[in-house]
Amino acid sequence: MGLGKKTIDDENYCGKKVLVRCDFNVPMKDGVITNENRINAALPTIQKLVNDGAKVILCSHLGKPKNGPEAKFSLAPVAAALSAKLGKTVVFADDDNVVGENAKAAVAAMNNGDVVLLQNTRFRKEETKNMPEFSEELASLADAYVDDAFGSCHRAHCSTAGVTNYVKDTAVGYLMEKEINAVNKVLNDIQRPFVAIMGGSKVSSKIEIIENLLTKVDTLILGGGMTYTFMKAKGGKIGKSIVENDFLDLANNLVKEAEEKGVKLLLAEDSKAGDDFSNDCNTQICPSDNIPEGWEGMDIGPKTMEKFADAIRNAKTILWNGPAGVFEFDNFTAGSRAIADAIVEATANGAYSLIGGGDSVACINKFGMADKVSYVSTGGGALLEAIEGKTLPGIAAITGDK
Ligand code: AMP
Repeated sequence: MGLGKKTIDDENYCGKKVLVRCDFNVPMKDGVITNENRINAALPTIQKLVNDGAKVILCSHLGKPKNGPEAKFSLAPVAAALSAKLGKTVVFADDDNVVGENAKAAVAAMNNGDVVLLQNTRFRKEETKNMPEFSEELASLADAYVDDAFGSCHRAHCSTAGVTNYVKDTAVGYLMEKEINAVNKVLNDIQRPFVAIMGGSKVSSKIEIIENLLTKVDTLILGGGMTYTFMKAKGGKIGKSIVENDFLDLANNLVKEAEEKGVKLLLAEDSKAGDDFSNDCNTQICPSDNIPEGWEGMDIGPKTMEKFADAIRNAKTILWNGPAGVFEFDNFTAGSRAIADAIVEATANGAYSLIGGGDSVACINKFGMADKVSYVSTGGGALLEAIEGKTLPGIAAITGDK
């Protein structure tokens, strides 16, 4: 993924109407935002445009409204949060059809440095189908377009891709730039040794990433629930551990592929097993390929923690996606914590560490270590697709990358 010269630093937007696609898809409960990380992440780009004296028109989706507008998916709470954070009024254009009379009037009344937020782009059914009518309507509001919604850039929607067919002055925002640079560090600009740690529940959802990483890494660590598919595939006993019986051959093939490519593949040799899928169940440490009947592997064991941590400590580039165990239960967080500790140590010693793609972000936040690693991605699916080596439509629309 290249950036070319298309970042917002290449331009002064004074007096221009700039449509900015943000990722304001924040978690909400009863109309209240429960985590403002995504809003905070969008602020530097908005602030730069405000400082330039641009007329800043923000848009985003929120949630998954099924049949058009739904009050619970309104972006009104985001407008209020943004106003507080920017210290200036963010006018909310509350049109169910997004580019309606309110939006047009609000934009017409803007002075340089003003900020308007449009209603949830997914209130328009055309949005997710990337239909030209809505792309054109969005574009009609603006002279320039800035995409800062990394979390949505793996989707070719009107507000992430289609709109660039109608606005020619385009750029990526600061958040997008940071995310693209982070992905480049682990895919293209690799300092060796490169160690990737993949965890989570299923191997089936990680196949393409593992395949792509096998062409990049020196060491691939596989933990979490997918361990037991690998153990069963080689004839081990796994009790009632989570397993994907349709992927046993695939697991064996991945082991072979790693060998052929000279990649060191580390699997969990011991596990902390429980007799029930709950925090307070009885536990025992056992070999991951010899788990008794009625027990299931729920975290990596102490020998594995040491082995994984050793590999991580010596790395110069680190990617972590997916927890090593059922980290939601406090009695099964030790494995994920050992990984996080080793990543923090390696980072302090100069390694580049990228954490991303869902639950490993929840992990690093739960451990309060987010500021001790190089970068925590804001993109879930988008980051995973980027690491799979796929073209992300929202980025390609701006950079022309294929
Ligand atoms: P994923 O979305 O595939 O990254 O999976 C994340 C989920 O994997 C978390 O909710 C973890 O609780 C779960 N997980 C990790 N290790 C295990 C395990 N050994 N058994 C069952 N679930 C696990």
